[in-house]
Amino acid sequence: MSFPLREASRQAGLLLAVLIVVIGGAVATESGKKSYTGYKLFSVRQNDQRQMDFLCQLQQAVEDLDFWKLDRVPGSEAHVLVPPEQVHTFRTLLAAEQIAHREIIADYSRTTDDYVFASVRSVPRKSPILTKYLRYQEMVDYLHKLALRHSNVVTVSSIGKSTEGRDIPAVTIRSPTFRARPNASQPVVFVDAGIHAREWAAPATAMYLISELVENAAQHADLLEGLSWTIVPIVNPDGYEYSHEQQRLWRKTRRQAGSSCYGIDGNRNFDFHWAEVGASNMPCADTYHGEHSFSEPETRAIRDELLQLKGRCKFYLSLHTYGQYLLYPWGWTSDLPASWKKIDEVAQAGASAIRQETGTKYTVGSSTNVLYAAAGGSDDWAFAVADVPISITMELPGGGSAGFNPPPSRIEEIVKESFVGIRAMALEVAKNYS
Ligand SMILES: [Zn+2]
Repeated sequence: MSFPLREASRQAGLLLAVLIVVIGGAVATESGKKSYTGYKLFSVRQNDQRQMDFLCQLQQAVEDLDFWKLDRVPGSEAHVLVPPEQVHTFRTLLAAEQIAHREIIADYSRTTDDYVFASVRSVPRKSPILTKYLRYQEMVDYLHKLALRHSNVVTVSSIGKSTEGRDIPAVTIRSPTFRARPNASQPVVFVDAGIHAREWAAPATAMYLISELVENAAQHADLLEGLSWTIVPIVNPDGYEYSHEQQRLWRKTRRQAGSSCYGIDGNRNFDFHWAEVGASNMPCADTYHGEHSFSEPETRAIRDELLQLKGRCKFYLSLHTYGQYLLYPWGWTSDLPASWKKIDEVAQAGASAIRQETGTKYTVGSSTNVLYAAAGGSDDWAFAVADVPISITMELPGGGSAGFNPPPSRIEEIVKESFVGIRAMALEVAKNYS
Protein backbone atom coordinates (compact mmCIF):
# COMPACT_ATOMS: atom_id res chain seq x y z
CA MET A 1 0.00 0.00 0.00
CA SER A 2 1.42 3.33 -0.98
CA PHE A 3 1.59 6.13 1.54
CA PRO A 4 -0.96 8.77 0.55
CA LEU A 5 0.82 11.96 -0.47
CA ARG A 6 -1.69 14.24 1.15
CA GLU A 7 -1.08 12.48 4.42
CA ALA A 8 2.66 12.79 3.88
CA SER A 9 2.27 16.46 3.21
CA ARG A 10 0.26 16.89 6.38
CA GLN A 11 3.05 15.19 8.23
CA ALA A 12 5.64 17.53 6.74
CA GLY A 13 4.99 20.09 9.46
CA LEU A 14 5.62 17.46 12.08
CA LEU A 15 8.78 16.26 10.35
CA LEU A 16 10.00 19.82 10.14
CA ALA A 17 9.55 20.08 13.89
CA VAL A 18 11.57 16.87 14.33
CA LEU A 19 14.31 18.23 12.10
CA ILE A 20 14.54 21.38 14.16
CA VAL A 21 14.95 19.44 17.37
CA VAL A 22 17.82 17.30 16.10
CA ILE A 23 21.03 18.98 17.09
CA GLY A 24 23.82 18.47 14.63
CA GLY A 25 26.64 19.99 16.62
CA ALA A 26 30.00 20.48 14.96
CA VAL A 27 32.12 17.38 15.23
CA ALA A 28 35.69 18.35 15.94
CA THR A 29 38.61 16.03 15.38
CA GLU A 30 41.54 15.82 17.79
CA SER A 31 43.36 18.62 15.98
CA GLY A 32 40.31 20.82 16.57
CA LYS A 33 39.55 20.94 12.87
CA LYS A 34 35.87 20.45 12.13
CA SER A 35 35.06 17.16 10.44
CA TYR A 36 32.49 17.06 7.65
CA THR A 37 32.39 13.27 7.50
CA GLY A 38 29.03 12.12 6.17
CA TYR A 39 27.80 15.61 5.29
CA LYS A 40 25.96 15.46 2.00
CA LEU A 41 25.41 18.21 -0.54
CA PHE A 42 22.00 18.15 -2.21
CA SER A 43 20.77 19.96 -5.26
CA VAL A 44 17.10 20.77 -4.88
CA ARG A 45 14.93 21.76 -7.80
CA GLN A 46 12.46 24.57 -7.12
CA ASN A 47 9.92 24.72 -9.90
CA ASP A 48 7.27 27.05 -8.56
CA GLN A 49 6.34 29.51 -5.85
CA ARG A 50 5.11 26.83 -3.45
CA GLN A 51 8.41 24.97 -3.59
CA MET A 52 10.39 28.19 -3.23
CA ASP A 53 8.33 29.17 -0.20
CA PHE A 54 8.90 25.75 1.35
CA LEU A 55 12.68 25.93 0.93
CA CYS A 56 12.76 29.45 2.31
CA GLN A 57 10.77 28.31 5.34
CA LEU A 58 13.11 25.36 5.77
CA GLN A 59 16.16 27.61 5.68
CA GLN A 60 14.75 29.90 8.32
CA ALA A 61 13.58 27.08 10.56
CA VAL A 62 16.55 24.74 10.60
CA GLU A 63 19.85 26.30 11.48
CA ASP A 64 21.92 23.19 10.77
CA LEU A 65 20.94 23.05 7.14
CA ASP A 66 23.56 25.09 5.33
CA PHE A 67 21.99 26.64 2.24
CA TRP A 68 24.94 27.47 0.02
CA LYS A 69 22.75 28.74 -2.76
CA LEU A 70 19.12 29.73 -2.56
CA ASP A 71 17.35 32.16 -4.84
CA ARG A 72 13.81 32.88 -5.94
CA VAL A 73 14.29 32.22 -9.62
CA PRO A 74 11.74 29.55 -10.66
CA GLY A 75 13.42 26.53 -12.20
CA SER A 76 16.72 27.10 -10.42
CA GLU A 77 18.41 24.64 -8.10
CA ALA A 78 19.19 25.30 -4.46
CA HIS A 79 22.29 23.73 -2.90
CA VAL A 80 22.06 22.53 0.69
CA LEU A 81 24.68 20.85 2.86
CA VAL A 82 22.99 18.41 5.24
CA PRO A 83 24.61 16.92 8.37
CA PRO A 84 24.53 13.09 8.47
CA GLU A 85 21.99 12.86 11.31
CA GLN A 86 19.50 14.94 9.33
CA VAL A 87 19.83 13.34 5.92
CA HIS A 88 16.96 10.88 6.37
CA THR A 89 14.47 13.46 7.66
CA PHE A 90 15.55 15.96 5.01
CA ARG A 91 14.91 13.47 2.23
CA THR A 92 11.57 12.40 3.68
CA LEU A 93 10.45 16.00 3.93
CA LEU A 94 11.31 16.83 0.34
CA ALA A 95 9.66 13.65 -0.88
CA ALA A 96 6.51 14.51 1.05
CA GLU A 97 6.49 17.92 -0.61
CA GLN A 98 7.16 16.32 -4.02
CA ILE A 99 10.30 18.38 -4.44
CA ALA A 100 12.87 16.82 -6.78
CA HIS A 101 16.35 16.58 -5.34
CA ARG A 102 19.58 14.73 -5.92
CA GLU A 103 22.72 14.13 -3.96
CA ILE A 104 25.67 15.83 -5.61
CA ILE A 105 28.33 15.18 -2.99
CA ALA A 106 28.06 11.95 -1.03
CA ASP A 107 30.64 12.86 1.60
CA TYR A 108 31.77 16.45 1.78
CA SER A 109 34.85 15.63 3.88
CA ARG A 110 36.38 13.83 0.92
CA THR A 111 35.93 16.75 -1.42
CA THR A 112 37.39 19.09 1.14
CA ASP A 113 40.41 16.96 1.77
CA ASP A 114 41.12 16.13 -1.85
CA TYR A 115 40.82 19.57 -3.31
CA VAL A 116 41.47 22.12 -0.70
CA PHE A 117 43.58 21.14 2.24
CA ALA A 118 45.96 19.11 0.10
CA SER A 119 49.09 21.07 -0.68
CA VAL A 120 49.04 22.33 -4.20
CA ARG A 121 51.97 21.67 -6.46
CA SER A 122 53.18 24.86 -8.03
CA VAL A 123 52.79 25.14 -11.75
CA PRO A 124 55.94 26.53 -13.31
CA ARG A 125 55.80 30.00 -14.89
CA LYS A 126 52.33 30.78 -13.64
CA SER A 127 51.60 33.34 -10.98
CA PRO A 128 50.51 31.72 -7.70
CA ILE A 129 47.48 34.02 -7.91
CA LEU A 130 46.19 31.75 -10.67
CA THR A 131 47.10 28.38 -9.21
CA LYS A 132 46.32 28.38 -5.50
CA TYR A 133 44.22 30.02 -2.82
CA LEU A 134 46.76 32.36 -1.24
CA ARG A 135 46.82 32.52 2.52
CA TYR A 136 46.41 35.92 4.19
CA GLN A 137 50.15 36.47 4.72
CA GLU A 138 50.90 35.50 1.12
CA MET A 139 48.43 38.11 -0.08
CA VAL A 140 49.97 40.80 2.11
CA ASP A 141 53.51 39.89 0.98
CA TYR A 142 52.46 39.99 -2.66
CA LEU A 143 50.84 43.43 -2.24
CA HIS A 144 53.91 44.92 -0.58
CA LYS A 145 56.23 43.58 -3.28
CA LEU A 146 53.91 44.95 -5.93
CA ALA A 147 53.93 48.38 -4.30
CA LEU A 148 57.74 48.36 -4.19
CA ARG A 149 58.06 47.39 -7.84
CA HIS A 150 55.35 49.77 -9.11
CA SER A 151 55.53 52.65 -6.69
CA ASN A 152 54.35 55.06 -9.39
CA VAL A 153 50.98 53.28 -9.62
CA VAL A 154 50.27 51.42 -6.36
CA THR A 155 50.15 52.21 -2.68
CA VAL A 156 49.25 49.75 0.04
CA SER A 157 47.85 50.84 3.37
CA SER A 158 46.03 49.31 6.30
CA ILE A 159 42.46 50.50 6.81
CA GLY A 160 42.10 48.88 10.22
CA LYS A 161 42.82 45.79 12.25
CA SER A 162 40.71 42.67 12.57
CA THR A 163 39.60 41.36 15.96
CA GLU A 164 42.65 39.09 16.09
CA GLY A 165 44.93 41.99 15.15
CA ARG A 166 45.54 41.39 11.46
CA ASP A 167 45.87 44.43 9.22
CA ILE A 168 43.13 44.83 6.65
CA PRO A 169 45.04 45.88 3.55
CA ALA A 170 43.76 48.37 0.98
CA VAL A 171 45.42 48.91 -2.36
CA THR A 172 45.12 52.20 -4.20
CA ILE A 173 45.85 52.13 -7.91
CA ARG A 174 46.12 55.25 -10.00
CA SER A 175 47.71 55.98 -13.36
CA PRO A 176 51.11 57.73 -13.34
CA THR A 177 49.42 60.66 -15.14
CA PHE A 178 47.08 61.07 -12.19
CA ARG A 179 50.04 61.18 -9.81
CA ALA A 180 51.65 63.90 -11.92
CA ARG A 181 48.44 65.96 -12.05
CA PRO A 182 46.08 64.86 -9.28
CA ASN A 183 42.45 65.35 -10.16
CA ALA A 184 40.22 65.36 -7.10
CA SER A 185 37.11 64.76 -9.15
CA GLN A 186 38.34 61.55 -10.78
CA PRO A 187 35.77 58.87 -9.95
CA VAL A 188 36.82 56.12 -7.58
CA VAL A 189 35.96 52.46 -7.92
CA PHE A 190 35.90 50.64 -4.57
CA VAL A 191 36.10 46.85 -4.61
CA ASP A 192 36.07 44.58 -1.57
CA ALA A 193 36.19 40.82 -1.14
CA GLY A 194 36.19 38.17 1.53
CA ILE A 195 33.80 39.65 4.09
CA HIS A 196 32.43 36.08 4.11
CA ALA A 197 35.34 33.87 5.10
CA ARG A 198 34.57 30.71 3.15
CA GLU A 199 34.09 32.40 -0.20
CA TRP A 200 37.69 31.92 -1.28
CA ALA A 201 37.17 32.66 -4.95
CA ALA A 202 36.29 36.26 -4.03
CA PRO A 203 39.69 37.31 -2.58
CA ALA A 204 41.31 35.33 -5.42
CA THR A 205 39.40 37.48 -7.91
CA ALA A 206 40.31 40.72 -6.11
CA MET A 207 43.99 39.71 -6.13
CA TYR A 208 43.82 38.98 -9.84
CA LEU A 209 42.12 42.33 -10.46
CA ILE A 210 44.97 44.08 -8.61
CA SER A 211 47.63 42.16 -10.52
CA GLU A 212 46.01 42.91 -13.90
CA LEU A 213 45.58 46.63 -13.23
CA VAL A 214 49.19 46.94 -12.14
CA GLU A 215 51.29 44.35 -13.93
CA ASN A 216 49.32 44.61 -17.14
CA ALA A 217 48.64 48.34 -16.91
CA ALA A 218 49.48 49.05 -20.54
CA GLN A 219 46.62 46.82 -21.66
CA HIS A 220 44.19 48.47 -19.28
CA ALA A 221 44.96 52.13 -19.84
CA ASP A 222 41.22 52.76 -20.30
CA LEU A 223 40.56 51.49 -16.77
CA LEU A 224 43.22 53.71 -15.24
CA GLU A 225 43.02 56.98 -17.15
CA GLY A 226 39.43 57.72 -16.15
CA LEU A 227 39.26 55.97 -12.77
CA SER A 228 41.08 55.54 -9.47
CA TRP A 229 40.79 52.19 -7.74
CA THR A 230 40.68 51.24 -4.09
CA ILE A 231 40.66 47.48 -3.58
CA VAL A 232 40.34 45.65 -0.25
CA PRO A 233 41.06 42.04 -1.21
CA ILE A 234 40.52 40.48 2.21
CA VAL A 235 38.04 42.20 4.52
CA ASN A 236 37.78 39.39 7.07
CA PRO A 237 41.28 37.91 7.43
CA ASP A 238 40.53 36.17 10.77
CA GLY A 239 37.60 34.25 9.34
CA TYR A 240 39.51 33.49 6.15
CA GLU A 241 42.43 31.95 8.03
CA TYR A 242 40.02 30.06 10.28
CA SER A 243 38.33 28.60 7.21
CA HIS A 244 41.73 27.36 6.02
CA GLU A 245 42.89 26.02 9.36
CA GLN A 246 39.83 24.78 11.24
CA GLN A 247 36.49 24.92 9.55
CA ARG A 248 36.29 25.11 5.77
CA LEU A 249 32.74 26.46 5.77
CA TRP A 250 33.28 29.25 8.30
CA ARG A 251 31.45 32.39 7.15
CA LYS A 252 31.59 35.01 9.90
CA THR A 253 34.17 37.13 11.69
CA ARG A 254 35.99 35.68 14.73
CA ARG A 255 34.96 37.90 17.63
CA GLN A 256 33.31 36.08 20.50
CA ALA A 257 29.55 36.60 20.32
CA GLY A 258 27.43 35.25 23.11
CA SER A 259 28.73 32.79 25.66
CA SER A 260 29.63 29.87 23.44
CA CYS A 261 29.73 31.13 19.88
CA TYR A 262 32.01 33.16 17.68
CA GLY A 263 31.54 35.54 14.85
CA ILE A 264 29.01 37.81 13.27
CA ASP A 265 27.95 38.04 9.65
CA GLY A 266 29.74 41.12 8.31
CA ASN A 267 27.25 41.46 5.50
CA ARG A 268 24.37 41.87 7.97
CA ASN A 269 26.24 44.34 10.19
CA PHE A 270 25.99 47.60 8.20
CA ASP A 271 23.85 50.37 9.61
CA PHE A 272 21.02 50.67 7.15
CA HIS A 273 17.72 49.06 8.16
CA TRP A 274 20.04 46.95 10.29
CA ALA A 275 18.55 43.71 11.70
CA GLU A 276 15.12 44.37 10.19
CA VAL A 277 14.94 41.30 7.97
CA GLY A 278 16.91 38.27 6.75
CA ALA A 279 19.39 38.25 9.62
CA SER A 280 19.48 36.27 12.84
CA ASN A 281 19.56 37.60 16.39
CA MET A 282 21.08 34.33 17.61
CA PRO A 283 24.86 34.58 18.12
CA CYS A 284 25.46 31.01 16.94
CA ALA A 285 23.64 31.48 13.63
CA ASP A 286 25.57 31.96 10.41
CA THR A 287 23.67 35.17 9.65
CA TYR A 288 23.96 36.72 13.14
CA HIS A 289 23.75 40.49 12.69
CA GLY A 290 25.76 41.43 15.79
CA GLU A 291 24.79 43.16 19.04
CA HIS A 292 24.54 46.46 17.19
CA SER A 293 25.35 47.77 13.73
CA PHE A 294 29.07 48.15 12.99
CA SER A 295 29.96 45.99 15.97
CA GLU A 296 32.94 44.60 14.02
CA PRO A 297 36.28 46.31 13.32
CA GLU A 298 36.16 44.79 9.82
CA THR A 299 32.85 46.46 8.87
CA ARG A 300 33.92 49.74 10.51
CA ALA A 301 37.05 49.72 8.34
CA ILE A 302 34.96 49.52 5.16
CA ARG A 303 32.55 52.14 6.52
CA ASP A 304 35.29 54.65 7.32
CA GLU A 305 37.03 54.18 3.98
CA LEU A 306 33.82 54.66 2.01
CA LEU A 307 32.87 57.73 4.04
CA GLN A 308 36.27 59.24 3.27
CA LEU A 309 35.55 58.73 -0.40
CA LYS A 310 32.03 60.13 -0.15
CA GLY A 311 31.16 62.13 -3.26
CA ARG A 312 34.08 60.67 -5.23
CA CYS A 313 33.30 56.96 -5.13
CA LYS A 314 30.95 56.18 -8.00
CA PHE A 315 31.11 52.40 -8.04
CA TYR A 316 31.08 50.03 -5.07
CA LEU A 317 31.55 46.37 -5.92
CA SER A 318 31.47 43.65 -3.27
CA LEU A 319 32.73 40.23 -4.34
CA HIS A 320 31.10 37.09 -2.94
CA THR A 321 30.46 33.48 -3.92
CA TYR A 322 28.47 31.81 -5.29
CA GLY A 323 25.64 31.57 -7.79
CA GLN A 324 26.47 33.92 -10.69
CA TYR A 325 24.34 36.88 -9.69
CA LEU A 326 24.86 40.62 -10.12
CA LEU A 327 22.76 42.16 -7.36
CA TYR A 328 21.91 45.72 -6.44
CA PRO A 329 19.79 47.58 -3.85
CA TRP A 330 17.62 47.09 -2.18
CA GLY A 331 18.45 44.10 -0.05
CA TRP A 332 16.10 45.14 2.77
CA THR A 333 12.90 45.53 0.73
CA SER A 334 11.52 44.33 -2.59
CA ASP A 335 11.06 47.97 -3.67
CA LEU A 336 13.62 49.37 -6.07
CA PRO A 337 15.50 52.65 -5.59
CA ALA A 338 14.47 55.46 -7.94
CA SER A 339 17.78 55.23 -9.84
CA TRP A 340 17.76 51.44 -10.25
CA LYS A 341 17.91 51.59 -14.05
CA LYS A 342 21.34 53.22 -13.94
CA ILE A 343 22.66 50.41 -11.76
CA ASP A 344 20.93 47.79 -13.84
CA GLU A 345 22.64 49.11 -16.99
CA VAL A 346 26.06 48.72 -15.40
CA ALA A 347 25.29 45.23 -14.13
CA GLN A 348 23.86 44.18 -17.50
CA ALA A 349 27.07 45.41 -19.17
CA GLY A 350 29.04 43.08 -16.88
CA ALA A 351 26.72 40.13 -17.44
CA SER A 352 26.73 40.43 -21.22
CA ALA A 353 30.52 40.85 -21.39
CA ILE A 354 30.94 37.62 -19.44
CA ARG A 355 28.35 35.82 -21.53
CA GLN A 356 30.10 36.83 -24.73
CA GLU A 357 33.50 35.81 -23.42
CA THR A 358 32.74 32.40 -21.93
CA GLY A 359 29.01 31.75 -22.18
CA THR A 360 28.59 31.88 -18.40
CA LYS A 361 25.19 33.28 -17.52
CA TYR A 362 24.67 35.77 -14.66
CA THR A 363 21.27 36.67 -13.26
CA VAL A 364 20.85 40.44 -12.76
CA GLY A 365 18.43 42.12 -10.38
CA SER A 366 17.86 43.55 -6.93
CA SER A 367 19.08 41.42 -3.99
CA THR A 368 15.61 41.01 -2.55
CA ASN A 369 13.97 40.11 -5.82
CA VAL A 370 16.61 37.64 -7.01
CA LEU A 371 17.53 36.20 -3.61
CA TYR A 372 15.67 37.02 -0.39
CA ALA A 373 15.44 40.17 1.69
CA ALA A 374 18.48 40.55 3.96
CA ALA A 375 19.10 43.87 5.69
CA GLY A 376 22.44 45.24 6.88
CA GLY A 377 24.35 44.48 3.68
CA SER A 378 27.32 46.57 2.61
CA ASP A 379 25.83 47.33 -0.82
CA ASP A 380 22.65 48.92 0.58
CA TRP A 381 24.71 50.98 3.02
CA ALA A 382 27.23 52.13 0.38
CA PHE A 383 24.37 53.22 -1.85
CA ALA A 384 22.15 54.87 0.75
CA VAL A 385 24.60 56.33 3.25
CA ALA A 386 27.96 56.68 1.47
CA ASP A 387 26.15 58.02 -1.62
CA VAL A 388 27.77 55.65 -4.09
CA PRO A 389 25.46 55.76 -7.14
CA ILE A 390 26.41 52.34 -8.54
CA SER A 391 26.48 49.66 -5.86
CA ILE A 392 26.66 46.00 -6.84
CA THR A 393 27.26 42.65 -5.17
CA MET A 394 28.77 40.08 -7.49
CA GLU A 395 28.24 36.43 -6.64
CA LEU A 396 30.97 34.64 -8.57
CA PRO A 397 30.68 31.11 -9.94
CA GLY A 398 31.01 28.21 -7.51
CA GLY A 399 32.84 25.01 -8.08
CA GLY A 400 30.19 23.24 -10.09
CA SER A 401 29.24 20.09 -8.23
CA ALA A 402 31.81 20.96 -5.57
CA GLY A 403 29.98 24.11 -4.44
CA PHE A 404 32.23 26.26 -2.29
CA ASN A 405 35.17 24.13 -3.27
CA PRO A 406 36.28 25.17 -6.71
CA PRO A 407 39.46 23.15 -7.01
CA PRO A 408 42.59 25.28 -7.42
CA SER A 409 42.75 24.12 -11.04
CA ARG A 410 39.63 26.24 -11.69
CA ILE A 411 40.89 29.47 -10.12
CA GLU A 412 42.42 30.78 -13.34
CA GLU A 413 39.21 30.31 -15.30
CA ILE A 414 37.05 31.93 -12.59
CA VAL A 415 39.21 35.00 -11.96
CA LYS A 416 39.85 35.69 -15.65
CA GLU A 417 36.19 35.41 -16.54
CA SER A 418 35.18 37.62 -13.59
CA PHE A 419 37.75 40.22 -14.61
CA VAL A 420 36.02 40.55 -17.99
CA GLY A 421 32.78 41.44 -16.20
CA ILE A 422 34.38 43.84 -13.73
CA ARG A 423 36.22 45.55 -16.57
CA ALA A 424 32.99 46.04 -18.54
CA MET A 425 31.14 47.43 -15.51
CA ALA A 426 33.98 49.82 -14.65
CA LEU A 427 34.09 51.14 -18.22
CA GLU A 428 30.35 51.74 -18.11
CA VAL A 429 30.83 53.72 -14.88
CA ALA A 430 33.75 55.68 -16.40
CA LYS A 431 31.55 56.57 -19.38
CA ASN A 432 28.81 57.97 -17.14
CA TYR A 433 30.82 59.63 -14.37
CA SER A 434 34.25 60.69 -15.68
ZN1 LIG B 1 28.93 36.10 0.71
